[in-house]
Amino acid sequence: MTKRTIPFFNYSYIFKEREEEFCKALTETCRRGAYIMQQELTNFEEKLSSYLGVKHAIGTADGTMALITSLKAAEIGLGDEVIVPSHTFVASAAAIHHVGAKPVLADCARDHLVDPVDVARRVTKRTKAIMSVQLNGRTANMDPLLKLAEEAKLKIVEDSCQALGSKFKGRFAGTFGVAGAFSFYPSKTLGCFGDGGAVVTNDDAVAEQLKLLRDHGRGPDGKVWEFGYNSRLDNVQAAVLLLKLQNYDEAVAKRRELARHYHEALKDVSEILLPPGPDESADHFDIYQNYEIEARDRDRLRAYLAAEGVKTIIQWGGHVIHQFEKLGLNSDLPYAEAMSAKFMLLPMNTSLSNEDVDYVSEKIRQFYRK
Ligand SMILES: *Cc1c(COP(=O)(O)O)cnc(C)c1O
Repeated sequence: MTKRTIPFFNYSYIFKEREEEFCKALTETCRRGAYIMQQELTNFEEKLSSYLGVKHAIGTADGTMALITSLKAAEIGLGDEVIVPSHTFVASAAAIHHVGAKPVLADCARDHLVDPVDVARRVTKRTKAIMSVQLNGRTANMDPLLKLAEEAKLKIVEDSCQALGSKFKGRFAGTFGVAGAFSFYPSKTLGCFGDGGAVVTNDDAVAEQLKLLRDHGRGPDGKVWEFGYNSRLDNVQAAVLLLKLQNYDEAVAKRRELARHYHEALKDVSEILLPPGPDESADHFDIYQNYEIEARDRDRLRAYLAAEGVKTIIQWGGHVIHQFEKLGLNSDLPYAEAMSAKFMLLPMNTSLSNEDVDYVSEKIRQFYRK
């Protein structure tokens, strides 16, 4: 096999891929001086809400602010507990902390998503909400979580930052609870050229609240109704996102095709645990934001792949949230704990070819044959 160089993510590709169209849209928007809360933002919000079949989409500065404003709009605050998986970006727990509530960490299951059985164990009198994190482009099995939320009168706020277009039983990630947060960070499946985010909701009152919160608490008449934030999605980013949303289904299909290739090539390698395959369950439609495996001898495997030209990444720098001791969070999370020594991401993005995936897979097989 001739040697290939496969970066983990190709940041310049996302611009060069459609450079002319992007330049045209950006020039057109900037020539009008349309920078903040202009037509492109409104158009993008409409397109995003119709794509997801929800009533409202509200652009925000980034995914973290989408989470913070979602929690605020869901009236979560001082003294409340919110259950969130430990295997997530620290921003999920930080958002809970910043609204005055306490993040209570839950374990994950074999598919790396939150374990509903463990969530149920962690409910107390103070629990107000569950933040389900739809990690790696997969939507959790929401049935037990919705049932638990109903029984214990808990709200669901979704961190769907990694899961735009992912579905569980035909229903889109982000549409299960009070509100769902999305991120358009460049390496996310719908990435812009900087920071960006959005919240979606079917609740009219929550939507109104979110619009106030993202713009200093100001209503359309300029009157301030409460203290808010400066957290608007830039209009030029909205212009880029509008273009990218047009072809989003193709991008998702491509990722699923790459995942299918990984799955076929690696399913019989006993030293690694693969994420669920794209055709494994009719209940799940995964969009493969990431292709996260568990690997025996992970660090040596990573070094071997790097020497063979393949760059991999370990999410969160290799630490799930309870391992950041300074945050002082609960830490009895056996699956996440054991997984943190084994998890890693293989290259997964639309700049890759099936041959690239075959190359990565063959190098992994070679490593374990030795
Ligand atoms: C990306 C991400 C966020 C935060 O998004 P930003 O846009 O970077 O603020 C939150 N949660 C998860 C799971 C993410 O992957």
